[in-house]
Amino acid sequence: MRGDGSISVAAAPATSHAPRVMSVVAAADEEPEVCSLFLEAPSWRAPARDEMVSRLESDEFDVLVIGGGAVGAGVAMDAATRGLKVALVEKNDFASGTSSRSTKLIHGGLRYLAQAFQKQLPPRSLLDVVRNLRFEPEYLRIVAADLSERSSMLESAPFMATPLPMMVPLYRWWEVPLFTVVGLMYDLIAGKRRAVPPSRVISADEALFAFPALRERSSGGDDSPLIGALVVHDGQQNDARMCMHVVLTAIEAGATCANYASVEGLLREGGDDGTSGDGKLCGARVRDTRAGRSIDVRAKQVINACGVFSDAVRDMAQPGVRPIMVPSYGTHLVLPEYPSARGTGLVWFTNDGRVLYLLPWEGSTMAGTTDAPGPISFEPQATAEEVDFILGECNRLVRKPLSPEDVTSAWAGIRPLVADPNAPPGDTKALSREHVVETLPSGLVTVAGGKWTTYRKMAQDAVDAAVAANQQLSHASPCRTEGLQLVGCDREGAVCGDDYDRITTTLRDDYQIDRDVARHLRYMARTLWASPNWHRQSRTASCTTALAEAASGGCIPAARHSPPRLRLPAGMSLRRRRWTCSPTARASRSWTRRRRARRCHWCCRS
Ligand SMILES: Cc1cc2nc3c(=O)[nH]c(=O)nc-3n(C[C@H](O)[C@H](O)[C@H](O)COP(=O)(O)OP(=O)(O)OC[C@H]3O[C@@H](n4cnc5c(N)ncnc54)[C@H](O)[C@@H]3O)c2cc1C
Repeated sequence: MRGDGSISVAAAPATSHAPRVMSVVAAADEEPEVCSLFLEAPSWRAPARDEMVSRLESDEFDVLVIGGGAVGAGVAMDAATRGLKVALVEKNDFASGTSSRSTKLIHGGLRYLAQAFQKQLPPRSLLDVVRNLRFEPEYLRIVAADLSERSSMLESAPFMATPLPMMVPLYRWWEVPLFTVVGLMYDLIAGKRRAVPPSRVISADEALFAFPALRERSSGGDDSPLIGALVVHDGQQNDARMCMHVVLTAIEAGATCANYASVEGLLREGGDDGTSGDGKLCGARVRDTRAGRSIDVRAKQVINACGVFSDAVRDMAQPGVRPIMVPSYGTHLVLPEYPSARGTGLVWFTNDGRVLYLLPWEGSTMAGTTDAPGPISFEPQATAEEVDFILGECNRLVRKPLSPEDVTSAWAGIRPLVADPNAPPGDTKALSREHVVETLPSGLVTVAGGKWTTYRKMAQDAVDAAVAANQQLSHASPCRTEGLQLVGCDREGAVCGDDYDRITTTLRDDYQIDRDVARHLRYMARTLWASPNWHRQSRTASCTTALAEAASGGCIPAARHSPPRLRLPAGMSLRRRRWTCSPTARASRSWTRRRRARRCHWCCRS
């Protein structure tokens, strides 16, 4: 950092053989001093996109995966780590579909937990709770499976997915014991490996401290005062970047992945009509939309992971096949930071039983989401009604009413729900969030439904189904993705995200670089050290590419599993920070609570 407060990020000139070096040039006020953070030479680098496309054309693959969202990337990673030769093709950018338009949560689903015990949500009185009591173990099973995947995800990429505290505000006395039990159950179901701090009920004072914009009195007509809040933790991720990391991990395991490669048709043994063969699929005709030409990609097995677009590919495999996808629109708004300025989110039930979130997100607040039927589209748009609905629901809980002028941006995504034959038509809320794996007679395996949190399990089930259905894949080893760490992962440190974050800590503590700038540099570096040239034109990656390109003069060094090691100037050491899991506890007026927070073993294992 220079005397005037500016920071210079410079790049050492690169030769064709020498590793590139990114230097952070820092100057103290009185005595200018130059400190450089040298990154390790790349140990692995993904091939350029052109090379990927020519491999698609020349090689024959064991598995061709269609769709480069969370699920497709997960399938490619799963199959490649089992020793299969894999190709992955994505029509647009990786994660350009639903996988970059989610609420960014890695969660087990509080709504499912509530639905396991309540016929109707939300309960309005204790009598309602008693009247609607039921027990649906199926929902508990889903929550347990999803919470197990939550732990898996948090552990596989702790630099990208971190625990996020969220409050459920409590305005009625009977909600306190009820939600205490809910929090306890959520933790109990997650088990020992829950990977996030435990749930707890906090006082009204603490709740207002953690979320200053919260109403002190209920807006429900009864004007009841805020009694406290249940704080639960789930994971939060940058979904688009996480998908990139999954793709990169697949590539590192040997997969050939290309974006801007759209499947136009499927290839069959014995030609298009399958008359001279057994009609089994043996690949796909793929259009390289960058080069404007089509190529045939040959594969022993085709897996369809196209999310809401899955029916189109199923129809290519078996014209006239009954559609299974039921699109459900969800909108999110980006609002100013002030409601969630302390890093705590808010979650509550809407009047019609949905769950709405107000979450801190990259210096702003994200509000969402809705759940409405709509057409399948590559560019879903947020409608004015959905924006009004979200703002109206937020205003039930936020002290200063939010208006459309506060909305800085919005996005919509389409949930790839799978039709439930027992659900009433048009009722998307009643649809199962569980995934399905279907094998058509032509051999096409389709994996759809589920959610981001369960992408790994979905991928595992899809590859298992493919291996079971296709003799030619018998050389595949069992699934290896449970516990697999993604490219860019730092194996050291504790669970809480920033404990891993040596780069930000060093930049802040030792170079006095502003927190936001340090975090920004860290994010850029983490993704881009492992990023290849081939997706440079990709929209998803463009912002991450920018800094690294500027810093490295066009060449981006890569690092695998071992994090980029910082070579510090003599005399400088890397200080470990002590973190507590509860900022509210640290700032609490209660001395005991502050003391307890300091000794918290969850995050302060060092
Ligand atoms: C509003 C909203 C909020 C959500 N919030 C959460 C959340 O907080 N947590 C959570 O766990 N889950 C959440 N989900 C669910 C989650 O986002 C999805 O389940 C998941 O992203 C689906 O991934 P996918 O890979 O199946 O689909 P997609 O991400 O849509 O990927 C399919 C890909 O296939 C490609 N494709 C389509 N046709 C072709 C073709 N012919 N050739 C090549 N490629 C093709 C598309 O371009 C697309 O990129 C949310 C969903 C929505 C809509």
